[in-house]
Amino acid sequence: MFERICLVHYHEIGLKGRNRASFEHRLLMNMEAALASYETDEISRISGHLLVVLKHGDQIGEVSRILLQIPGVARVSSGWRCAREPEQYCKAAELALVDCGPYQTFKVDARRSNTDYPINSMELNQLVGAHLCAFAPDKKVQMKDPDVKVHVNVIQGSVYVYSRTERGVGGLPVGSAGKVVSLISGGIDSPVASWRLMKRGAVVVGVHFSGRPQTSDASEYVVDDLAHALAPAGGFGRIYYVPFGNYQKIIASECPPNLRIILYRRLMLRVAERIAWLEKAKALVTGESLGQVASQTLENIMAVNSVVKMPVLRPLIGADKLEIIDTAKRIGTFEISSRPADDCCTLFMPRSPETHARIVDCERAEEGLDLDAWVDEIMEHLEYRDYPCPAYRAPKKMPEGAKALDAC
Ligand code: ATP
Ligand code: MG
Repeated sequence: MFERICLVHYHEIGLKGRNRASFEHRLLMNMEAALASYETDEISRISGHLLVVLKHGDQIGEVSRILLQIPGVARVSSGWRCAREPEQYCKAAELALVDCGPYQTFKVDARRSNTDYPINSMELNQLVGAHLCAFAPDKKVQMKDPDVKVHVNVIQGSVYVYSRTERGVGGLPVGSAGKVVSLISGGIDSPVASWRLMKRGAVVVGVHFSGRPQTSDASEYVVDDLAHALAPAGGFGRIYYVPFGNYQKIIASECPPNLRIILYRRLMLRVAERIAWLEKAKALVTGESLGQVASQTLENIMAVNSVVKMPVLRPLIGADKLEIIDTAKRIGTFEISSRPADDCCTLFMPRSPETHARIVDCERAEEGLDLDAWVDEIMEHLEYRDYPCPAYRAPKKMPEGAKALDAC
């Protein structure tokens, strides 16, 4: 009978002053991309909110679940849109009253944002309130903490009625905070670290180092699945898949075993920084958390960090594993990350890895390795896959040997 709508509320964007319009526009584009496979009648801006009008009302649950995952979305209210006729919005208010399941108490919160509508907010409250009291005579009106709050908003030429409101991820829309290159392993931590940056508005370019050709490419499929799981967040523009097994094999055969992991990581960061230059990204991201494993002591972090000039962001540095797992479950990456798949990390592991590496020892160990040539070789043969992210801008010119991989 009425159109089904999702009203999207934002919070931080509302604090952006004169830049607010561009943040809203960015969020609108991201919402359009995230809902590309759903038929909608309208996705637009209305008076401090963004609005989605569905073509098929029965999809409202799915659509609102997707919207809730989009960075920048603070809350999503699902309800109805109707004409500015009292009998229509009173009828819609009946639907909203029973929309959230069993209840005993309710209140009406009615507002008009246009003064061209002759009934003011106070009168609207009384009108709809009286109607609902007659509709549900056994329920009580309660002003403080009612079970159900029926919102009736007169905005421009329509009335929006809802009671169901859920909390979204918040943050800022992807594309409002530049671009980063995130080292994504397929483990539990790095997808969460990448997501944290998406939530702060960054476009994320992933780099995954697989054990290929020394292992299968199984970990690359895991990473691709992770990218799809994070699709509603809309933050991955592209992921580079780097076959790393042969370089690890040389490091393993020529360098002290206790330094292997640090040397792998130092090479990874060098490659990631070169990719960041190519992509015009301004920072690198890892999923490290202080002390979580042997490679993540302060000494080792310093030894790894020293090979790059670009800032390395570690959004999980102070998070413990259980917090990270909770987030991974919430954002839908936990199960995928828990799938067993050999990545390059499981290859050529030493028995007792160094926990207090010194930069000089790493440099000495690397003396016999032609690292610059390796990095050039990797850059010349980059393999990558693109993901839907409206804010992502690919490099204008890619190295000649680079190739786009087919969608998995
Ligand atoms: P994760 O759960 O993200 O794999 P981890 O607890 O296994 O992290 P490490 O193996 O020490 O920790 O890796 C630390 C960080 O280094 C990862 O979070 C990731 O950012 C990066 N990294 C490790 N292995 C890879 C890889 N194969 N490809 C890309 N990045 C990697
Ligand atoms: Mg790992």
